Amino acid sequence: MEPANGSRQPAGGIGIMGGTFDPVHFGHLVTAEGARHDFGLEKVIFVPAACPPHKDPGHILAACHRLRMTELAVASNPYFSVSALEVERRGPSYTIDTVREMQAAHPGRTIYFITGADAVMEILTWKNVEELLGMCFFIAATRPGYQLENLRGRLAGLPHGQVERIYSLPVPALAISSTDIRQRVREGRPIKYLLPEAVEGYIQREGLYRT
Ligand code: ATP
Ligand code: MG
Repeated sequence: MEPANGSRQPAGGIGIMGGTFDPVHFGHLVTAEGARHDFGLEKVIFVPAACPPHKDPGHILAACHRLRMTELAVASNPYFSVSALEVERRGPSYTIDTVREMQAAHPGRTIYFITGADAVMEILTWKNVEELLGMCFFIAATRPGYQLENLRGRLAGLPHGQVERIYSLPVPALAISSTDIRQRVREGRPIKYLLPEAVEGYIQREGLYRT
């Protein structure tokens, strides 16, 4: 689990940025761009989750809105795109199914799953984690409030060599979260400069997150 800049990988990998993106914000975009650069990725595909297994489905905005906002957010970056594969899949989204589909769509390419350190901390609870770690690498963005040092201990139960498939990516101290943005909209406080203007405009036009 070395810092990204100490362990550059061969160019041409495919990054997958999974998330609820409710809404997408600069924390996600800065993380994806940092991973793309540091790991020489050919592209990063944002994959909004349909029905995240770990989140209460009742409180998540309709997938079509989250998809559209993510498309608006990535439009200015030629290396970024959005996939609706989880949204179009029926039932809960599991990372392993998504990685499998991405592998099939990009034969022979190395897949990097980009995620926040908070999500990697829960990795042991994920479905088929050992198989998953055999299929792709993880890039874990460090986020304020999460201690990556704890990760090695938490992942001690993994077979030899698998912890090495998780890299850390220092991301500038971005305390931005979707939860905070939703709360700000509800309370009428500004969200400007926390997410792309196009996404801010969409939230206003559609009247999202007001209640
Ligand atoms: P919520 O507050 O609703 O949980 P979130 O801001 O964490 O939303 P998600 O869609 O849950 O956004 O995040 C998708 C991925 O991006 C997760 O792996 C998460 O850890 C990571 N992430 C979220 N915010 C940041 C940030 N500011 N910096 C780095 N990574 C982030
Ligand atoms: Mg989150």
